[in-house]
Amino acid sequence: MDTEISRLIQAELERQRHGIELIASENFTSQAVLDAMGSCLTNKYAEGYPGKRYYGGCEVVDQIEQLAIDRLCTLFGAEYANVQPHSGAQANAAVFLSVLQPGDAILGFDLSHGGHLSHGSPVNYSGKVYQANFYGVEEETGTINMDKVAQKAREVHPKLIICGASAYSRDWDYKRFREIADEVGALLLADIAHPAGLIAGKLLNDPIPHCHIVTSTTHKTLRGPRGGIIMMGKDFANPWGRTTKKGEPIMMSAILNSGVFPGMQGGPLEHVIAAKAVAFYEALQPDFKTYGKQVIANAQVMAQELVSRGYKIISGGTENHLMLIDLRGKFTDVSGRDAENALIKADITINKNMVPFDSRSALLTSGIRIGTAAMTSRGCTEDHFRQMAVWIDEAISNGQNEAKLSALKHEVNRFMNQFPLYS
Ligand SMILES: *Cc1c(COP(=O)(O)O)cnc(C)c1O
Repeated sequence: MDTEISRLIQAELERQRHGIELIASENFTSQAVLDAMGSCLTNKYAEGYPGKRYYGGCEVVDQIEQLAIDRLCTLFGAEYANVQPHSGAQANAAVFLSVLQPGDAILGFDLSHGGHLSHGSPVNYSGKVYQANFYGVEEETGTINMDKVAQKAREVHPKLIICGASAYSRDWDYKRFREIADEVGALLLADIAHPAGLIAGKLLNDPIPHCHIVTSTTHKTLRGPRGGIIMMGKDFANPWGRTTKKGEPIMMSAILNSGVFPGMQGGPLEHVIAAKAVAFYEALQPDFKTYGKQVIANAQVMAQELVSRGYKIISGGTENHLMLIDLRGKFTDVSGRDAENALIKADITINKNMVPFDSRSALLTSGIRIGTAAMTSRGCTEDHFRQMAVWIDEAISNGQNEAKLSALKHEVNRFMNQFPLYS
């Protein structure tokens, strides 16, 4: 028996139990999601799609995958869903492979302003294979100026426009993005990896009616297993006039499905797909909307408390589950890395993050990103988040004071005892 890995898994469980988790992209799944992921389904090969597999013995996993697809379509009001992408980055890569040719121009949100690596960063596949262009936020307001997005689109003639981000605390104007995409003849992709759970709860603008294609992760605010998904509100005939041997137009659903498999991936992870189905079931229950409302209320309280303590929040506040803090608003000599290191000594986990127009490097950064989805899943409400903001401020302000950080850690650990995890 392998005692080394089981000991380490136990150590990680203890870390998750006793620390404050504020990484905006993390969450705590239900025990039911964990159980599905740890099931015998991991043994099954199922290349292909339900009813059209390249392996025998798929009668059961066909039903599981179909249930995941149907639940996801119900959750978002989508006509089409693919639940096979192994991650959010894989979902995006499969879409790019499906709708772009190498060298095509794309237009996405600037990574250094809060965008994602998979939207055209030079270190990612998307930036190496396609000609990447970016829009960003205004330095004054910290928000996206849609007239400038339109101007940029007219300049670079992208084949694909991407909206969605990893560190943007404002909602998206999908309708205006679609008008711009239509004007320049681009397809529009919304990557809702971060706010998916809040969109599912109908607490934010809905991308489905406006965007040709929507991708997401399933493990952030959606609170499922680590994975990716692709959806379309309505299937449509491919815009390039490709036809079948019989001369019928090929639908985008077929193009996206073959982009995922065999284009980008091999066998699907049916244990993870089962866990996705469980998470979609949970997200369809009325209390998931209550959860989403609490996530947003908690983020707003956290932002207010930090602002009252002299911190600068990019765009001045939040409409979703996260906020990006520019530490230069309060300190001249504290980088994102310093803040992250101080907080971890107090058992508070956040991540350092570039802020728009950052004067420091990506390794140092001038910002931190904070999200409320994970701690809300643990049962925290507004008063708890006010308390967390106080501890964050105390830890960052006393980053060199080991005794103070150690005292804070004890308080944090005692606080977390109220919120048991997988007991
Ligand atoms: C997290 C994220 C992804 C990628 O997810 P992985 O599962 O880590 O590949 C893609 N897009 C956005 C906007 C994200 O925030």
